[in-house]
Amino acid sequence: MKGSGSASKLPEAVISEDEFNRLEVIPDYCKDCGICIAFCPTHILESRGGTVIVTDIAGCTGCGQCELRCPDFAITVTAKKRRTKKVKKQV
Ligand code: SF4
Ligand code: SF4
Repeated sequence: MKGSGSASKLPEAVISEDEFNRLEVIPDYCKDCGICIAFCPTHILESRGGTVIVTDIAGCTGCGQCELRCPDFAITVTAKKRRTKKVKKQV
């Protein structure tokens, strides 16, 4: 048997996805600093309950800015397929 005590549990990710993009947010890692929200060009990220949520995955361009700017590795973007239709910038 390996080690003792209980096995360490990985923090759970909240997943938002459509056929084009997949976003994973790990609330346990998120400190709700708002950096990703500020950098998202289509404004689809929002602070809620001490973490970040994706309000509209259909607005995600898969640009990766949120992942790149997050200092805590709390958000991961996987661009699955390129959108052919332009995503409208939300206000
Ligand atoms: S990948 Fe780009 S468009 Fe999608 S949530 Fe992150 S910053 Fe916004
Ligand atoms: S940048 Fe990272 S830590 Fe800051 S709000 Fe976004 S996901 Fe959370």
